[in-house]
Amino acid sequence: MKVFDLGCAQGHVFEGWFASEDDYAQQRQRALLTCPMCGDGQVEKKLSAPRLNLRSAAHEPHAAPGSAPEPAQAPDATEQQMHAAYLHVMREWMAKTEDVGQRFASEARAMHLGDVPERAIRGQASAQEAQELAEEGIQVLRIGIPDSIKQTLQ
Ligand SMILES: [Zn+2]
Repeated sequence: MKVFDLGCAQGHVFEGWFASEDDYAQQRQRALLTCPMCGDGQVEKKLSAPRLNLRSAAHEPHAAPGSAPEPAQAPDATEQQMHAAYLHVMREWMAKTEDVGQRFASEARAMHLGDVPERAIRGQASAQEAQELAEEGIQVLRIGIPDSIKQTLQ
């Protein structure tokens, strides 16, 4: 069971759960990985944060630009603007997906088996359910949805 931080060309970061490193490589090769927020197919594994921090930690309080991949954000974007952009993307994504709630694992499995038509779904799955899906070769993306969005949708 592997959990990778993945990122798309637009700078979105999300988690992908895979049965193994090979599973990740295969899904990527077959272009099965897409960004859950914008649908971008150029998904790459991100370097983990601890590795990125190692180089600049001791002697370079200000890391040189270009030394680490940065999300494609305007350099002068305020935190508030970035948050607003994030909320906007999340709302669009939620509008395009069907909320199946606690049935997420069984719905994802049914789609994988061809029992029901493929469609974009979201919902809740326990860590164990997510692991079982990954072991069956079913790609699951974990992203946290801010409470503020949940509220505005109701
Ligand atoms: Zn994206």
